[in-house]
Amino acid sequence: MNLNSHLIYFDITNVCDAGCDFCMYREGRKNPERLQLDTVSSLNVYRLINHPGTDCIVISGEGEPFSNENALKQILDSSIGGKKFQIITNGLWKKISVPERFHELNKIAKKNGDQYTVRLSIDSYHASRIGFKRYEEFFDFVASSSDDVPNVSLAVRSLIEDKTFTRRLISKILKRSKMNYELREICVLEDELHLNNTPIKIQYKNLVNPYKLGRVDCFKLGGYTLAIGNKYGKLFTLGNLNTTSDSKGLNLTVKPNGNVFFYGAEIHPYGNIFTELLDIERFEHIVSKDPFINALYTVPFNDLIEKLREIPGVSSRIDKINNPYWIIKDLYRTHKEEMSEIFRMFLKENQETYSLKNKNLYIQVTHNI
Ligand code: SF4
Repeated sequence: MNLNSHLIYFDITNVCDAGCDFCMYREGRKNPERLQLDTVSSLNVYRLINHPGTDCIVISGEGEPFSNENALKQILDSSIGGKKFQIITNGLWKKISVPERFHELNKIAKKNGDQYTVRLSIDSYHASRIGFKRYEEFFDFVASSSDDVPNVSLAVRSLIEDKTFTRRLISKILKRSKMNYELREICVLEDELHLNNTPIKIQYKNLVNPYKLGRVDCFKLGGYTLAIGNKYGKLFTLGNLNTTSDSKGLNLTVKPNGNVFFYGAEIHPYGNIFTELLDIERFEHIVSKDPFINALYTVPFNDLIEKLREIPGVSSRIDKINNPYWIIKDLYRTHKEEMSEIFRMFLKENQETYSLKNKNLYIQVTHNI
């Protein structure tokens, strides 16, 4: 399998003050965790980030990454340049204004020769905690001063279920501030906002456990994975998808305790940045040799899911969770053996033939979502 365009998530803390109703990590917050890099882990971060196959580094958390500013800045400073970083944030920075933060990040990005995207969460859950005024500050700054911070851009992340809410909220903010803007839909998963001359992507994900939150208007799992496939022009599997070729990349997550997982398949850690020397090649090797991960990276996800639904009691759980990156780890706790058997069965088939046979059908379907 041709692997490139790797994406590495660093979940650097579970600490967050926002207290959103839908937060999946509230329980874990009873034990606050912050990634603290030492000599070995710093070397591992350097090796993972600066590997030529690594395309994008996402700094996030099961909390707010700016709650662990030390680690955040150490990770940014580990780059030798030419990398894309995304920083996912709720924007609730109590001690610093939006312009100050953007200028500070731009200084680091410029020094290191990187590009940063600040991905701000705007949906009904975050908005009730962060407030109209803070969002206004972001858009005001980008509309008037984006040229001053050429190495840092803004993007918005939201929920498909809150698309109308997010569009209305942003329009209201921009109209109130009398800003020139145009908001247009790119696909089911993405809008583009043009604010003066600055483009801002608005990306929509589907909600995890929507029924628990009383959302009956949720976007169903099958449609969501087809929409992702349609966006990237290939069938959805785990692994980092990209639009540039038929290949895909590793999608890894480093947790605050240093454990490294395959994103969406956090069944057990495949390394730890504090205890051993790691490199990208080790994880590439696992993708080709470990039948479980190999199946998740090569077999179309919807086909795996359809088969998993045949295990008694599993179908309703899949529907409840409704998100491709949360299902595997949940089912693995109780159905490890059955899952492994199903994955092995898929791998026995000739995947090339299998994928080609189904590809046209999938592409046709995705156009009809
Ligand atoms: S901002 Fe994010 S991490 Fe913090 S409470 Fe809300 S959803 Fe959870």
